[in-house]
Amino acid sequence: MERIYNTDFYVKDFDAIVTAVDGKEIELDRTAFYPGGGGQQCDVGTLAFGGRQISIMETRKGDCGRILHVSDSDSGLSAGEKVHCSIDWSRRYGMMRHHTALHVIDGIVEKSYGGLMTGSQIYPDRARMDLDIPNLDRTKAEEIVREAQKVIDQDHKVVMKVLTMEEARKIDGLARTRPGIELMKKLTEARVVEIEGFDMQLDGGTHVANTSEIGRIEFAGYESRGSHNKRVEIRLA
Ligand SMILES: [Zn+2]
Repeated sequence: MERIYNTDFYVKDFDAIVTAVDGKEIELDRTAFYPGGGGQQCDVGTLAFGGRQISIMETRKGDCGRILHVSDSDSGLSAGEKVHCSIDWSRRYGMMRHHTALHVIDGIVEKSYGGLMTGSQIYPDRARMDLDIPNLDRTKAEEIVREAQKVIDQDHKVVMKVLTMEEARKIDGLARTRPGIELMKKLTEARVVEIEGFDMQLDGGTHVANTSEIGRIEFAGYESRGSHNKRVEIRLA
């Protein structure tokens, strides 16, 4: 099964062949629908076939590396049929912009503030992150967002690369959180997202091609959840 979202983040429409159907769950021979993960929500969209169109309400990972496209009603599809697939692009593109914005902030948190982003949640219209930074308060969090804007305005190219584990282990800070470090031990290759000249991280999600596509970050919320966890929310204008 070809995962188009692993090699091209900008495919919105594609043709595919149905390989299996179980009730509302449809499997395809290739897909650009992101199944969710790493804080980024799954894609939704439509499948068109034989003059009909059905909605895909959710995409999720099944067992054994399968990807399940969950329709809103019984599709009547069967294996071997051709379908034309479209992703809800405004939702996906919003998540790409917010995802790359979080990587810029993560890079600043690590390089300039000696801290960590311990968790994140990405939505089409906003993103939130949990930060563990010594003496972080609201003023400092706003300063971090301003620093991120400076980096975004430098128009850095963003590229996805697949590294061998030998190459990946030579790069400091590729995985920053404990789950990421544990994951690195099990992988046979490392998919990384590089903000050229600024940051490189282990990542499975989808991103914009240049930081200029992020636009302006607005600081949208701050909440203290303990000495090691401050939750910050951003929104893109
Ligand atoms: Zn990420």
